[in-house]
Amino acid sequence: MIRCTSARVDLDALTANFRVLQTHLADEARTNRAAGAGTPHAPGIIAVVKANAYGHGARPVARALEAAGATMLAVADIEEGVDLREAGVRAPILVFGALSVSDVDGVFAHNLTPTISSPAAARALESAALARGTRLAYHLKIDTGLNRLGFRHDNLRRTVPPLLASSALYLDAVHTHFATADEPESPAFEDQRRRFEAACHVLDELGAGPRLRHAANSAAVVRDSRVWYDFVRPGLLLYGLVPPPLHTTLALRPVMSLTSRVVAVKGVRENEAVGYGARFVAGRPTTIAVVPAGYADGLDRRLEGRGHVLVRGRRAPIVGAVSMDMLTVDVTDIEYVEPGDEVVFLGRQGDEPWQTIDAREMAAWIGTIPYEVLCRLGARVERIVEQDGESPIDPAPGPKT
Ligand SMILES: *Cc1c(COP(=O)(O)O)cnc(C)c1O
Repeated sequence: MIRCTSARVDLDALTANFRVLQTHLADEARTNRAAGAGTPHAPGIIAVVKANAYGHGARPVARALEAAGATMLAVADIEEGVDLREAGVRAPILVFGALSVSDVDGVFAHNLTPTISSPAAARALESAALARGTRLAYHLKIDTGLNRLGFRHDNLRRTVPPLLASSALYLDAVHTHFATADEPESPAFEDQRRRFEAACHVLDELGAGPRLRHAANSAAVVRDSRVWYDFVRPGLLLYGLVPPPLHTTLALRPVMSLTSRVVAVKGVRENEAVGYGARFVAGRPTTIAVVPAGYADGLDRRLEGRGHVLVRGRRAPIVGAVSMDMLTVDVTDIEYVEPGDEVVFLGRQGDEPWQTIDAREMAAWIGTIPYEVLCRLGARVERIVEQDGESPIDPAPGPKT
């Protein structure tokens, strides 16, 4: 049984986006090599699948990205990493989160790669590794100006030597995270890039040995090939969206679509109000279509009076309050709307440009970012996974015959 409000997760689009990106990285690297400037080798891709793969469903997305050739997958915390291992993912998994107050068992039991971003995390992981008699590979996070997690770039000589001296910990890679990669005008990006490079020199001087570097989220991937280093760490791009306000000529396709159906159509008279708060008052005889999707499904209440849906290939405004399980759209100007008609929140309903709505557009309507639109898709919305043009590919694993 599937509700009529459901999301489609197109793994073919995901894999195609991965390949588009991979090809772009290789092409640019070749150009850089010829020009003798910028990153001369194609970086590997650390595919970011945190937060349930930005709402798309972590397990099928991670398996598809692994199959496509991701060097590594990245998650927010140990629990997300363990979930992927239980789903059969074998690729290396990087954990971004702080780990200082986590139960770190899962790191060892499930072969996850932790990020060490504070002395407290270093101590927790070091004593756990010593207790198990193993040597744990980690990525070191440098704070170059985001001022969130990471060892400050300007006092590494004081903070890092104990970490490097540990016999239980092994430094595999060093990374940083940009605060303003999506703001073309901000000088902070360049400051962070310089600080990161300086920090890497300091690590050299401290004898940190050969190690890999990574820094680029989606915006930085799009923006500046100098920060690609050994790996890039895209999330949003893989899901087919470019962080606003940036643009790209890369042929990316949104992976998620969200649709429902009209369940009722009714006429309201001039001056009658629709929905909680009676905020929409019909200025003319109006036809309202009721759609069984609301804020419990992740549709933001601010869509009222701002957002649109596609019905019969046309855009219909969302009017009246978005309630928990329902919302209403004005279909007065669209002929023949009837129960059962498809309603598109995210996706396409025809080939014209205005017959497509993506998470970036929806985010702009309500003053947020496409990341939030995707991540907030409600838990009760079934994700129907499509691959090779078919669905579903993710049945419960059955006995092999
Ligand atoms: C989420 C995240 C990314 C990916 O960001 P996008 O903008 O989706 O590409 C990369 N690195 C870190 C540390 C992150 O937390």
